[in-house]
Amino acid sequence: MKRANRKAAATKPAAAHRPAYGMETFLVHGRHHTKKWDYTHHLVPPISSSAAYRLGSAERGALGFESFAHEGLEPSKASPIYIYDRLDEPVRGMLEESLAEAERGEFCAAFATGMAAVSGALGVLLQVGDEIVCHRTLYGCSWSLFRNWYPRLGIKVVIADLTKPGALAKAMTPKTRAVYFESPANPTMELIDIGAVRAACEAAARKGRPRPQIVIDNTFATPFCQRPLTLGADMVVHSLTKNLGGFGTDMGGAVVTRKEYSSQILLYRKDFGGVLAPKSAWPIFVYGFPTLPLRMKQQQESARRVADFLERHPKVRRVAYPGLPSFPQYELARQQMTDYSGAFAPGSMLYFTVKGDANHILNYVARQAYAVTLAVSLGQTRTLIESPTQMTHATLSHEDQGSCGLEGEGLRLSLGLESVNDILSDLERALAHA
Ligand SMILES: *Cc1c(COP(=O)(O)O)cnc(C)c1O
Repeated sequence: MKRANRKAAATKPAAAHRPAYGMETFLVHGRHHTKKWDYTHHLVPPISSSAAYRLGSAERGALGFESFAHEGLEPSKASPIYIYDRLDEPVRGMLEESLAEAERGEFCAAFATGMAAVSGALGVLLQVGDEIVCHRTLYGCSWSLFRNWYPRLGIKVVIADLTKPGALAKAMTPKTRAVYFESPANPTMELIDIGAVRAACEAAARKGRPRPQIVIDNTFATPFCQRPLTLGADMVVHSLTKNLGGFGTDMGGAVVTRKEYSSQILLYRKDFGGVLAPKSAWPIFVYGFPTLPLRMKQQQESARRVADFLERHPKVRRVAYPGLPSFPQYELARQQMTDYSGAFAPGSMLYFTVKGDANHILNYVARQAYAVTLAVSLGQTRTLIESPTQMTHATLSHEDQGSCGLEGEGLRLSLGLESVNDILSDLERALAHA
């Protein structure tokens, strides 16, 4: 290699813009030569941790403040001016670049938790007097946010069954600014047809109203199994605490969307303050993202095996797993849930109802099982089981639990990386105690 070329090779990375490489490769390497931070000689991006930054000169400091979250004014793209962790920070910034790419979005902002991300996405869309339509089945804290806090802010929440054709059109009014749902829904695994939601929102817009913005919580699927922005959604929210982090060590959340929302979301995050700590961003970015495809493939394969087993088990009334041909929305699952190579990707979560006492199963697991653990959360290397009505969705009234389709005998299972035969044996013995 000639001397000039060698110099170029040191400063010009081969894959700055992820040209022909697959997503798995990109998730390992990221934009290692991001202009956000020069760490050319590190193999692993270092952890940066600094609440404030040297501004260098009064003028540079003033420019940093002037250009922050200012679309068009972005000297920060060429050479970022870091000021203060809550505004922008290199490790979190690298995580955001990678997740935006993984979701096929233009912009990502990372938050302290999944709930902070949900609040952030909707915080920039909604104000007093607006209405939001939500699907009837949601993660318990999202439900509580809408039920307990939004009415106090003067935001009307309309709950609808978005699996039913026509239900959304009926629920929308001229004041509807956002439609919110999870697909698959936590915990029942119902799917929402994202393209159909988009069509209904566009039809509403044709009546002279602004088009309601579609916000989807993609935590269950992860971008490995589903990329909602390519299917018609406007904003994707995530709990990074789950499969994107993958190891259960850190909490985090993220919003991925179009560039037009970037300023608003950054300003919201700056002022409400729920920003992802760099010490949490680092393990999610360095361990979680690179292993996401591998973990999802393995966990999904186990989910398929466990769903088959449960479906044939005499103590099991019903299994909801999008990968089962008996799943009521199997066709929709096949269309919406695909991995980066286009293969069907029904994910690693399932929900099942048992005949008999679900608590006997959980207590057996808590006391005797090794491969399966009684705990909330999901998307970890460990297989976790819980009872939504008593745990993650306990905040819902008994009546609301009923209208969400939750049953007392229902159990949520998140598949981990243990040998599937061990998971099956633990479940077999636990079911014998139902
Ligand atoms: C866990 C979860 C959240 C909340 O995320 P946190 O990181 O716990 O705040 C939101 N939505 C879904 C679907 C979840 O499973």
